[in-house]
Amino acid sequence: MSKNLTKRSEDYSKWYNELVVKADLAENSGVRGCMVIKPYGYAIWEKMQAELDKKFKETGHQNAYFPLFIPKSYFSKEASHVDGFAKECAVVTHYRLKTGEDGKTIEVDPDAKLEEELIVRPTSETIIWDTYRKWVQSYRDLPILVNQWANVVRWEMRTRLFLRTAEFLWQEGHTAHATKAEAIVEAEQMMNVYADFAENFMAIPVVKGVKTANERFAGAEETYCIEALMQDGKALQAGTSHFLGQNFAKAFDVKFANQEGKQDYVWATSWGVSTRLMGALVMTHSDDNGLVLPPNLAPIQVVIVPIHKTDEQLAEISEEVNTLVAKLRKLNISVKFDDRTTHKPGWKFNEYELKGVPVRIAMGPKDLENGTFEVARRDTLTKEVVAKDDVVNYIQDLLEKIQSELFNKALDYRNSHITEVNSFEEFKDILDNKGGFVAAHWDGTSETEEKIKDLTKATIRCIALDRVEEEGQCVLTGAPSKGRVLFAKAY
Ligand code: AMP
Repeated sequence: MSKNLTKRSEDYSKWYNELVVKADLAENSGVRGCMVIKPYGYAIWEKMQAELDKKFKETGHQNAYFPLFIPKSYFSKEASHVDGFAKECAVVTHYRLKTGEDGKTIEVDPDAKLEEELIVRPTSETIIWDTYRKWVQSYRDLPILVNQWANVVRWEMRTRLFLRTAEFLWQEGHTAHATKAEAIVEAEQMMNVYADFAENFMAIPVVKGVKTANERFAGAEETYCIEALMQDGKALQAGTSHFLGQNFAKAFDVKFANQEGKQDYVWATSWGVSTRLMGALVMTHSDDNGLVLPPNLAPIQVVIVPIHKTDEQLAEISEEVNTLVAKLRKLNISVKFDDRTTHKPGWKFNEYELKGVPVRIAMGPKDLENGTFEVARRDTLTKEVVAKDDVVNYIQDLLEKIQSELFNKALDYRNSHITEVNSFEEFKDILDNKGGFVAAHWDGTSETEEKIKDLTKATIRCIALDRVEEEGQCVLTGAPSKGRVLFAKAY
C-alpha cells in the first residue's frame, strides 16, 4: 500500500489533512464544517474519554446530561457571554417541514414557527445555571460537581478536521461553590488535571497559564489554560478551565443561604477539552510515514505479522504467535495478530506504520528456526531481534519506554522553541523564521495586544503560571512590564 503522504517540510497543513484521512481517523462530511469520526479515530477518542472520565471521578465529579437546545432568552441573560457567542450560533426557528405545492419538494412549514427560537448549545453555562437555581437553596447543597459529555455547535467559518469544527465532541464541567476561594481552587485543579492528562497520558508537554482579557472565555473572570506547541511551531490551546465568579449565578438568580443564614450568590467554574485533542495528538508526534501514537492511546499497541511462503510455515508461526498473544493480553496489552493471507507482509507493514501502531512484531521462517521475533518500533523505525523467552518482558518495557521517549522528544522540541526576545525586530524575526513561543515583555494593555496581533498574527497564548517576575519594557510600546508573556501564532 502506498502512503503518498505530503512531506511535513513541503506543506504541513496538507500533510495533516492527508494523514487524518489516510490513517482513517476522520473525514469531511456533506455538512459544512462537520466531520465524520471514523472507527479508528473514535477508538482513540474513547481512550481519551475513559482516562479523563476516571480523573474527573477521582476528583469527585459526577456525569449528568442537559438539553441540546437553549432558549434564546437564556442567552441574553449574561451580557458578555452572549456577546462572545452570538456570531457563531446555530438557531432553530421551526419545528416542522411540509411538502411544497409541486407535491415533491420539502420546505419549512411557515405555520410551525417556534414562539421562542432555540440555540443549539455552543456551551451549556446558561441552561445549566438555569437548572442549578432549582438545585441550590443552602450551603448544604454545595458544591455541585458535575460534568457532561456532549456535542456542541459553534458556527466556525474556517474549519479544520478535529482542530476547529462547527460541531465538536467535548466534555464540559460545571461546578457551583459557596466561596470564591473554593471555586478558584476547583478551576486550578481542573487545569492541573488537564495538564497531567496531556503530559502523562498523551505525551504532549503543555504550558499552564492564564489568558489575557482579550482571550478570556466570554463570561469568565479568569481563564486558565494548557497550551501545547505543534511541530510546525504553531501553538494549540489544548484545554481551558474558567473561574466564572458570580456572573452566571447573578444572571440566573442562583442564591444560597450561607452558614450565617445570609443570602449570597453561588460561585462558578466551567472547564472543557474537545476532539481538538485528536489534532494535538497528530501534530505533536506523527511523521512523514504516518501517525505515531503513544502506547497509552493506541487502539492496537502491538501488531504481529507472519512472514511465510507455505501454509505449514503459517501454521507453525501461528502456534508461536498465539502463545505470545495470550501472554501479552494477560498483561492488558492490546495486540492484533494479522494473519490475513489476502495482504502481503509489506502492505501490512505500511498500513500499521500509517496507523501509528507503536510496536510491530514479525516472525518468519528464520525466526522460527532461531526461536526469535523481530520487534520494530514505530516512533524510531528501529528493529531488534529478540529471543522468544525474553519477548514478553521486552515488549512490556518497550511500551513504557516509547511512551516516555515520545514525551521527552516533544518536550525537547517545545523547550527549544521558547525564545526570549527584547525588541520588536527580534520578535518578528523569531516568529517568521523559527516559530514557537516568543517570550516577550508586554505593557498589559488590550490595545497593544491587538496591535501586535494585527502586525504579526501572533496572540498572547498565556501568562505562564511559572513565569519569573522581572522588570522590563514592552516589546512594542516600551512601556513598563512586570514579566514576559508567551506569544505565538496559533491554530
Ligand atoms: P471554550 O469553551 O471556548 O473554553 O473551549 C473549550 C475547549 O474546546 C477548549 O479546549 C478549546 O480549545 C476547544 N474548542 C473550542 N472551539 C473549538 C472548535 N471549534 N473545535 C474543536 N475544539 C474547540
